This record gives sequence, C-alpha cells and structure tokens, in this order.
Amino acid sequence: MVAAEAMVFIEQEGTDMQVTDPVCGMPLEIGKAAANEVWQGQKYYFCSGSCHDKFRAAPDRYAGKVGDKGKPAGSSAR
Ligand SMILES: [Zn+2]
Repeated sequence: MVAAEAMVFIEQEGTDMQVTDPVCGMPLEIGKAAANEVWQGQKYYFCSGSCHDKFRAAPDRYAGKVGDKGKPAGSSAR
C-alpha cells in the first residue's frame, strides 16, 4: 500500500474556532469540519459531506439560519 501524503491545511482563522453547521445546526470546530463552502462571501462549515450536499442544493435555505442579524424566517408563525 502506498501511503498518501497527509492532508495538511492550515488556515489563518484557527482550527479550534467554533462554528455551527447551518444544515443540521450542530456546533463543530473548524478543524473538525468535514467540508466547507463559501457562499455569498461567507464561509460555512459542515459536519459531513451529506450536510454539505444539502447546503449546496439550497444554500439560501440554510445560510440565513446562521448569524444573529438575520430576520427569522417567516415560515413558522407562533
Ligand atoms: Zn451537519
């Protein structure tokens, strides 16, 4: 077996920064994110490839849930 070179990616922002997966809402550290995506200038991190796929399928559906200054979606009235 040929050992693949270790994947190393070092980001300036720090890998222990806590973020939220916009799809499932799970908190995770950047360094442990399985995938990430830049959408409309904002970077999002995902716990798994399937969450990433869901986000890419409908980014506007998920992206608004992260971040504090967005208005709540009008889909659920209380
Ligand atoms: Zn997830």
